[in-house]
Amino acid sequence: MSDTTHAGLTIEITPGVAIPAHLVGEVQSKLAYVDERIRAAEVAPSGDRITLQVQAEEDTPQLQAELDEKVQRVIDTMVKGAFKPKIQVLEDHLQRPTPYNQDPMQELVARGEVSQEATGMFSLGPLVTRLIDYFEDQFLGLADAFDANPYRFPTLIPAKYLERVNYFSAFPHSLSFVTHLREDLDVIDEFAQHAACDQHGLNTPPDSFAQVQALLSPAVCYHLYFSLADQPLPNGRLAATAVGSCFRYEAINLASLERLWNFTMREVIFVGPKDYVLKNRENARQHMSQVLEETGLAYRVESANDPFFIGEFRKQAAFQSAFQLKFEIRARLPFEDSTLAVGSYNYHQDFFGRHLNISLPDGSPAHTGCVAFGLERIAFAFLAQYGLDVRDWPASVREAVHG
Ligand code: AMP
Ligand code: ZN
Repeated sequence: MSDTTHAGLTIEITPGVAIPAHLVGEVQSKLAYVDERIRAAEVAPSGDRITLQVQAEEDTPQLQAELDEKVQRVIDTMVKGAFKPKIQVLEDHLQRPTPYNQDPMQELVARGEVSQEATGMFSLGPLVTRLIDYFEDQFLGLADAFDANPYRFPTLIPAKYLERVNYFSAFPHSLSFVTHLREDLDVIDEFAQHAACDQHGLNTPPDSFAQVQALLSPAVCYHLYFSLADQPLPNGRLAATAVGSCFRYEAINLASLERLWNFTMREVIFVGPKDYVLKNRENARQHMSQVLEETGLAYRVESANDPFFIGEFRKQAAFQSAFQLKFEIRARLPFEDSTLAVGSYNYHQDFFGRHLNISLPDGSPAHTGCVAFGLERIAFAFLAQYGLDVRDWPASVREAVHG
């Protein structure tokens, strides 16, 4: 079924199997990667209808058939045989009263506090920056509580390292590749004279670019594990902290400050024996529980899974859930009655220890875990709950931001 609108076509697809409620969001976010012509995708909450906005001149049976086949493939792979994970709630402060219930984006833009450079790329003004600095102070306090050593990591990450930790099969959809012009005078001259942008981007022959050796880093803690690879872990345990730019290409899911291509993550990272990592992950959660109470944020901590790509999703998500590997801090967004992950508590077992050959004094592979916060996200969630008028903010935040 379809009809034509000025923005393109609306196409409806009936899933071969109904999408259960717990997978509606997961499937919807993956539809962004199904076909370049899809401009928007929505799975009905009941899971029995998918609505696509498609950029195409005319609706043809072929277009319908192509989209239908790809969408059904996603559903078959993600839904068939999936079981509902038991959501474990470790903390529930979702109903903490907060004064604001608008989408803060409009006011942020009007005040020059947020300005969009392109899809998923934003500049932030003084108020939001100070608010992020406030949260950074809290995260540095968390790092201090563990005597975590500070590190600085590059924004680029070598392809060969990501390959070693199976990143390409787990998260291919969100990768951002980096290249440069081939070291060839003709290629560089040609580029210098003719490079120009059209509405789709930079217009350059693809063979001008060198083979990809580096990508933009999707997370901070990977760099620490890479720096520890292929050697015994000094002292048998390590607590570290770092902040860095991270990149996840989220296609049409990129929207406001909620979901960015280029964002900033602060991590506190633990490497060592299993009980050291698990105990510190739990201690970090308890420390943050007090911090978040002081900031007044309404949130819940609950079990979660990483956004694995379609083929890997079912198995990996079930594994994470069974072994309680990931918990998210989900802040309330009152304006849309939903929640947004502002941070996560992660345990990777000995995955990185095995794949990167990081060994403990007894020769066994090291275990790793990290606590990760999205800086733009936590500021956005706070503003969605408290608004832009600092007089309405909890005293501790107001004083830190305004002196
Ligand atoms: P994760 O490693 O996926 O648990 O990410 C850690 C934190 O980074 C999340 O809880 C978010 O706060 C933040 N984050 C992840 N992806 C994005 C994104 N696309 N845009 C903004 N923040 C993000
Ligand atoms: Zn991490």
